[in-house]
Amino acid sequence: MLILLRTDATKQEIEAVTQRVRELGFMPHEIPGVQRVAIGVTGNKAKVAPDNFLVLPGVVDVVSVSKPFKLVGRDFKAENTVVDVGGVTFGGREIQVIAGPCSVESREQIQEAAEIVKASGAKLLRGGAFKPRSSPYAFQGLKLEGLEYLKEAAERTGLKVVTEVKDTETLEMVAEHSDLLQIGARNMYNFSLLEKIGDLKKPVLLKRGFSSTIEELLMAAEYILARGNYNVILCERGIRTFEQYTRNTLDLNCVPLIKKLSHLPIIVDPSHGTGAWDLVSPLAQASLAAGADGLMIEMHAHPEKALSDGYQSLAPETFRRLMVQLKRYEPILERTIA
Ligand code: PEP
Ligand code: MN
Repeated sequence: MLILLRTDATKQEIEAVTQRVRELGFMPHEIPGVQRVAIGVTGNKAKVAPDNFLVLPGVVDVVSVSKPFKLVGRDFKAENTVVDVGGVTFGGREIQVIAGPCSVESREQIQEAAEIVKASGAKLLRGGAFKPRSSPYAFQGLKLEGLEYLKEAAERTGLKVVTEVKDTETLEMVAEHSDLLQIGARNMYNFSLLEKIGDLKKPVLLKRGFSSTIEELLMAAEYILARGNYNVILCERGIRTFEQYTRNTLDLNCVPLIKKLSHLPIIVDPSHGTGAWDLVSPLAQASLAAGADGLMIEMHAHPEKALSDGYQSLAPETFRRLMVQLKRYEPILERTIA
């Protein structure tokens, strides 16, 4: 349910509405916007009589929202959400590139990667320290040590840290060492983790599960927003199909579709989406053409030595070339590429 107030509604009038929502046992969400003043209501199991709010001063309409997702939907908020990651914004005019190795492997490895990322003009460094691997025998990440190397490399180069949080037990530790918390494809359905992250106000990068529908992705984001954390960036990273030539099938349909359904920023990860380094650049360009707000690219200074995802990682020279190529799209997209 959405309560609409006059655009010039006073602070007291807004306060009275949120107060009434709480008295009824629901949660109010003030939705900022230039076109209107709106308050979203969640937590209602059944329909609430609109009269509860229509009688209050300043209220002009009460609309029920029929879609299963509420707070993430365009019905709730018409304007694009801009997520601020320590001064680096997603969903605005600037397109962001997050780059770095799949895993943090050593202090030297991540430092070398950070320097390449920095020189390319990108503003965010990625690297997994807690790796949710399909095999229990595969490299599981350097854990706390990896987080420390990652943070150190990012601080030295002035980049923001993006890293995956694997479970609720390590959430606090990962949050302390990062600027943007990544929820991996395997954890998109980990509702306790989503709820805990919803309680933190830290920006989140939510990756689409490899067998999840677009609606399921939006519902996973809804879990986070429903707890009061509105700083969510979505990420398309490929889904499983019958196709065997590629690791996943990158579903670029979802970019313009999500732009229509939701106000949240969406970025694309063509590295996991294809699983092959030589397909990454064309799909990165296609992602921007489809309207993505950013890219996540796996890049390794020595892909042949990588402890995970080496085959899909760009070598430094290919990465540099891609960044130069992407810059050429700026006038067409009418956006800048960081
Ligand atoms: C990753 O980003 O390295 C990763 C594990 O991604 P995903 O969760 O999309 O598989
Ligand atoms: Mn990876």
